[in-house]
Amino acid sequence: MCFKSLKRSSALVVIVFLFSACQQAPEKPEYPLHYSDAIFGTSFIIKAPALPDSVTSNEIQLKVKKLLDELNRQMSTYLQDSELSKINQNQTGEWIAVSDALYQVLKQANSISELSNGAFDITVGPLVNLWGFGPKGISFVAPDEDKIKQQLLNTGYKNLLFDDEKQQIKKQIPQLYLDLSAIAKGYAVDQVGALLESNGIVDFMVEIGGELRLKGLNIQNKPWRIAVEKPAADQRMIQKVLPLTDISLATSGDYRNFFEVEGVRFSHTIDPRSGKPITHKLASITILSDTTMKADALATALMVLGSEQGYQLAEKQKIAALFIIKTKEGFVEKATDSFVAILR
Ligand code: ADP
Ligand code: MG
Repeated sequence: MCFKSLKRSSALVVIVFLFSACQQAPEKPEYPLHYSDAIFGTSFIIKAPALPDSVTSNEIQLKVKKLLDELNRQMSTYLQDSELSKINQNQTGEWIAVSDALYQVLKQANSISELSNGAFDITVGPLVNLWGFGPKGISFVAPDEDKIKQQLLNTGYKNLLFDDEKQQIKKQIPQLYLDLSAIAKGYAVDQVGALLESNGIVDFMVEIGGELRLKGLNIQNKPWRIAVEKPAADQRMIQKVLPLTDISLATSGDYRNFFEVEGVRFSHTIDPRSGKPITHKLASITILSDTTMKADALATALMVLGSEQGYQLAEKQKIAALFIIKTKEGFVEKATDSFVAILR
């Protein structure tokens, strides 16, 4: 899908937003399942400290690969013949039947849009592309105001209609273009987790492009230790290490995937209200949730809303969120009650 986080080759940008702190010293035991590769324009890691006798690591890897390839064929905007790309190309204005997986992701996206009053909006695709963060690639120049206004007319999550009975969608604006980069990685993590569980694997970590699902314990029989990175573009340092189990985690940040023009930084997160990249002082946000799909989308939603409005919404909705805010004195953390309660 390139559910985004495309690694850009220039000096400007790059990579994963968070890394897992499960690094082991060489003498420590190795995970019998330790699979990492590239997908969706980003990387993934899967680890499990034990496998049942019924499956081998190789078999699991093949199953995971098959699953991820299938999700890519459903939800990528980078593959011209994916299910999603065909929907994007379809300008008939008629009802379109949708696969189970895609329908589930579209419905979850819609509910996060409603919850965030449109801060999360998968129809911002044309603006993502206009700002050069989409499949067409990097622009490095801010687009004209006129073009932004023009593209804004083609957006709005309310223009995507759902028919639950027939599992169909309808684009009320024929040009409506959907971009699942901020939610589909999370969905894929959940699906890989479910696949591992259905194969009898009870402890595991699944990470795709910084979105994670953690189940049970690690190879030392302890909760998984996940490092949240310090949100700075020029260094890779740890802000905080979280011991986690039976939970999902996602981060959103403006410190990796951005471009800069004469000192002004343009984030790949677009505020659907203005059609422009967000510019506020919220450097990163980490969400804990029962599903990775929800965590992924909420991270982007709260990133758009910023440290004040986003924090208020997170408290009101009992979302477990950690905000890292840029100040003159350095990075300041602000956690919601739910976040504190989980880590207590
Ligand atoms: P992050 O980890 O920073 O959240 P993601 O890859 O999960 O990064 O999501 C960012 C991507 O989501 C962007 O590159 C863009 O394709 C898409 N996007 C940008 N703004 C929004 C928005 N307001 N709502 C939904 N998706 C968005
Ligand atoms: Mg995300």
